[in-house]
Amino acid sequence: MRTQVVIIGGGPSGLLLSQLLLRRGIDNVVLERKTRDYVLSRIRAGVLERGLLELMREAWVAGRMEREGFAHDGALIAHEGGTFHIDFKALTGHSVMVYGQTEVTRDLYDAREAAGAETLFEVEQVEIHDADGDAPYVSFRQHGETRRIDCDFVAGCDGFHGVSRQTIPLSVRREYEKTYPFGWLGILSETPPVDDELIYANSARGFALCSMRNANLSRYYIQCALSDKPEDWTDAAFWQELKRRLPGEVAERLVTGPSIEKSIAPLRSFVCEPMRWGRLFLCGDAAHIVPPTGAKGLNTAASDVHYLYNGLRQFYEEGDSEGIDRYSERALARVWKAERFSWWFSSLLHRYPDQSAFDLRMQTAELEFLRTNRAAQQAMAENYVGLPY
Ligand SMILES: Cc1cc2nc3c(=O)[nH]c(=O)nc-3n(C[C@H](O)[C@H](O)[C@H](O)COP(=O)(O)OP(=O)(O)OC[C@H]3O[C@@H](n4cnc5c(N)ncnc54)[C@H](O)[C@@H]3O)c2cc1C
Repeated sequence: MRTQVVIIGGGPSGLLLSQLLLRRGIDNVVLERKTRDYVLSRIRAGVLERGLLELMREAWVAGRMEREGFAHDGALIAHEGGTFHIDFKALTGHSVMVYGQTEVTRDLYDAREAAGAETLFEVEQVEIHDADGDAPYVSFRQHGETRRIDCDFVAGCDGFHGVSRQTIPLSVRREYEKTYPFGWLGILSETPPVDDELIYANSARGFALCSMRNANLSRYYIQCALSDKPEDWTDAAFWQELKRRLPGEVAERLVTGPSIEKSIAPLRSFVCEPMRWGRLFLCGDAAHIVPPTGAKGLNTAASDVHYLYNGLRQFYEEGDSEGIDRYSERALARVWKAERFSWWFSSLLHRYPDQSAFDLRMQTAELEFLRTNRAAQQAMAENYVGLPY
């Protein structure tokens, strides 16, 4: 089998890149380790930046998102019993869109099926060969058979635990990592959201986030110990703890109900450099991870897709390799800014086990500065709605 670009990973990065390339007539195949249903069952991101919206439009998959997504012009920050508003629209001229990653992925799979594009599911033992030469190929097993695809380029869109990053030799690869001493316990419930906008809460009992997917589907998170398990938390215990971390008037209007999903995610900051090795390009979580506080994971994956798609387009349509040669440099310049924002916003809102009385005062002073200073709010809003590509 031969194609122009082999894309490893059928998550949002791989699917979006594939769809954009197909629209330009650039042939590609997506290899996915799991089934489509499994990929669609993963509840993850829910806040989309304008750059991702533009890419969805360019890929002709934005119709349902435009109809069913919710534009958010701002967010609330809760601290010391009250809330303050950051008005993204007034400060930057832009909003964000609340539309679940699951829905983005579903729209991309539906578009692939309608176009007859090839996705090979349940592939195992994927290996990338000769990525540092002129004729790379990818081998894998599917339904008991060993197969091989020859290609011009390989896009490693296979997430943090995939094979692509590991293919780059250790002598070339540099990894930067920070782990956080807590996780996020999240639940999804078929209840109306407590507010029209997201509420990020800093409380003495730890961080909390009130988020949503639609008018009757809410997503709530609380900071928890890394040793906690979802089954340690009954729904009643979760709601009680969430209410204790929110200002009284917000807690009073919170509508509770049975959870339909409950999970714990650890928090991590991670960057791999470079994001290109020969004819292999890393994209999305394969190259970097952020703590979810700033809603940057999926959005930073999308900015990688933007740079790689345009680099490949330039290569195939104009015979110019400048875009792919500078892919790693351009993608990383934006990745590090998203890392900085996610790290800063996490540091501002969580309780850390080793925080001194001085550290707590610094956190309060920083929140107070953000509450009262327009320049600080503008810097926050510009990062939240997404820095330009
Ligand atoms: C629990 C959780 C909660 C999150 N919440 C948020 C949030 O609230 N906000 C936010 O912005 N971000 C969030 N994120 C991050 C966001 O979901 C990711 O940044 C986004 O999914 C990245 O997309 P991706 O396509 O690069 O990687 P992934 O979504 O990880 O997709 C990679 C795909 O590759 C496949 N794969 C892996 N290995 C192989 C292989 N060897 N061969 C073939 N296929 C392979 C996987 O099955 C998967 O489908 C969360 C992440 C997690 C894990």
